[in-house]
Amino acid sequence: MTQRVAVIGAGPSGLAQLRAFQSAARKGAEIPEVVCFEKQSNWGGLWNYTWRTGTDEHGEPVHGSMYRYLWTNGPKEGLEFADYPFEEHFGKQIASYPPRAVMFDYIEGRVKKAGVRDWIRFNSVVRWIEYDEEAQDFTVTVHDMTRDHVYKERFDHVIVASGHFSSPNVPEYPGFDQFYGRITHAHDFRDAREFSGQDVLVVGASYSAEDIGSQCWKYGAKSVTSCYRSAPMGFAWPDNWEEKPALVRVEGKTAFFTDGSSKTIDAIILCTGYRHYFPFLPDDLRLKTKNRLAAADLYKGVVYVDNPRMFYLGMQDQWFTFNMFDAQAWYVRDIIMNRIAVPADRQALMADVAEREAREEASDDVKYAIKYQGDYVKELIADTDYPSFDVDGACEAFFEWKHHKVDDIMGFRNHSYRSVITGTMAPPHHTPWKDALDDSMEAYLRN
Ligand code: FAD
Ligand code: NAP
Ligand code: MG
Repeated sequence: MTQRVAVIGAGPSGLAQLRAFQSAARKGAEIPEVVCFEKQSNWGGLWNYTWRTGTDEHGEPVHGSMYRYLWTNGPKEGLEFADYPFEEHFGKQIASYPPRAVMFDYIEGRVKKAGVRDWIRFNSVVRWIEYDEEAQDFTVTVHDMTRDHVYKERFDHVIVASGHFSSPNVPEYPGFDQFYGRITHAHDFRDAREFSGQDVLVVGASYSAEDIGSQCWKYGAKSVTSCYRSAPMGFAWPDNWEEKPALVRVEGKTAFFTDGSSKTIDAIILCTGYRHYFPFLPDDLRLKTKNRLAAADLYKGVVYVDNPRMFYLGMQDQWFTFNMFDAQAWYVRDIIMNRIAVPADRQALMADVAEREAREEASDDVKYAIKYQGDYVKELIADTDYPSFDVDGACEAFFEWKHHKVDDIMGFRNHSYRSVITGTMAPPHHTPWKDALDDSMEAYLRN
């Protein structure tokens, strides 16, 4: 009997899985029946922009965490699909830090070409998954929002690709309940223009803090104050951006910091990260991990050690994204299609996880971390027919990107890098990032 595989989510990870199976079928292999459940009305995951915050049109938590004017924060040369170069999609090489709409178009282009849209059931929220020991299969409970109908189906394998940058981590500081202004989390941030003319406080010191602060600065905030708990971002900020140590409390419109200083502010944006959140999974199937490169309890970063018929994609913290999801998806496909064997005993699976954790913890160096994830991508690609590419070259692009940020945090996106897939150099963008206020695809692709 044909195996049945459930994929949860049609973001870049879930779509990579559909493309992996489609590619095997195109080469003549017999593939399982694949059903992808997507709670949104379209594919693309986080890249499918929504203006909504809070709940969606069905009353479900909004998945989207992206905002208007978002450009990629790393060079596209680090994430390019090895089987679908930017040049193939756009008919020419394009600049290195595309805005969201351009990236969405690129993501969509590959899966349109693959013809997998009808494998996806949209507006379909996965509510619960259970494993039946005796039958050795999963029962997936789905809410079809279009028909307002809840049903169950059985599958031999489940692949969770539901993302982990959607459920916000929201700390509270003393005085928040009495603050004279808006307090929001990065997950709900949509349009920097809302903060023009304001003194904005950004809490956090990672990518969201850096980019949301930069957006506010670019679109006319009066000042940006960012504050860190562990270590400062430490860039050479513009004159009206000050980086302070940890927030202690707020009083009225004043924020107080651990160095005794204070600042009058109009709005607070919590860029305090996200939680891995799987409300549709019972304890025995549910991944519990921090946002790190060696995710807990995943053999080869994808096979759930407590039930090796269950897989997770994209659960790691991410330097590499799309091509890493591809490497994972091709690998999982080949396990399911019996081309790759998984050790039978749990100890061997756990030993693999422990080795990955120890190797990640061996250094705090950023270059080490980038290379660590690059090596992981190489490791998976070596065992499948995903087109191999110059992963070390992609690491080099990331190293350069890091330098460019240190040189000029508001100018790093003006740089270009060489594609490791096609070997072509990206052209410089026609307008410096700080002056490019229109983030549409038309504006970006204009010569
Ligand atoms: P997601 O994109 O989150 O997709 C998961 C999908 O699962 C969604 O479509 C969701 O609706 C669906 N889903 C969730 N739960 C259910 C359910 N119960 N039932 C059915 N469907 C469900 N990466 C980069 O490479 N470059 C960038 O510039 C970049 N910018 C980013 C900016 C922000 C603000 C954030 C938060 C992330 C950014 N990322 C970026 C990283 C991002 O995680 C990846 O690019 C990518 O979107 C991850 O793909 P995914 O498929 O794993 O998860
Ligand atoms: P993150 O990298 O997990 O960082 C979370 C930050 O919040 C850390 O600085 C952390 O500080 C801080 N923090 C957590 N709890 C806190 C608390 N209670 N008080 C103070 N600070 C606290 O999350 P992220 O920055 O949201 O990034 C998530 C993903 O989105 C990344 O993959 C990133 O690349 C992506 N992203 C991309 C763009 C883009 O431009 N394309 C923009 C935004 C985000 P500690 O270090 O002390 O823990
Ligand atoms: Mg290979």
